[in-house]
Amino acid sequence: MIITFIFDLVRSLVNGILHLLNAAMGFISRILGLSKRAPKLVQCSHHPEPTLACPKCAEEQARARKYMWKIIIGLMLPFALQSLDTTM
Ligand SMILES: [Zn+2]
Repeated sequence: MIITFIFDLVRSLVNGILHLLNAAMGFISRILGLSKRAPKLVQCSHHPEPTLACPKCAEEQARARKYMWKIIIGLMLPFALQSLDTTM
């Protein structure tokens, strides 16, 4: 009974460590340029069939990213100022 429990615990621990190692190795090899993500076809509303890259979608993503950063900075600055403001 307890041996089974310990065995399951060890097995799940080893599985977790192996999973982490696999993810780390993939990350490192991608950073070093040893392996690249395979380009996958994307289906979007601008083209009837799946394409590798859509300029309209890329532009849309860039605009969304810019908007996201504007929101983040626009929220961070007032709160940073508020945190610096001390009233005594
Ligand atoms: Zn598109």
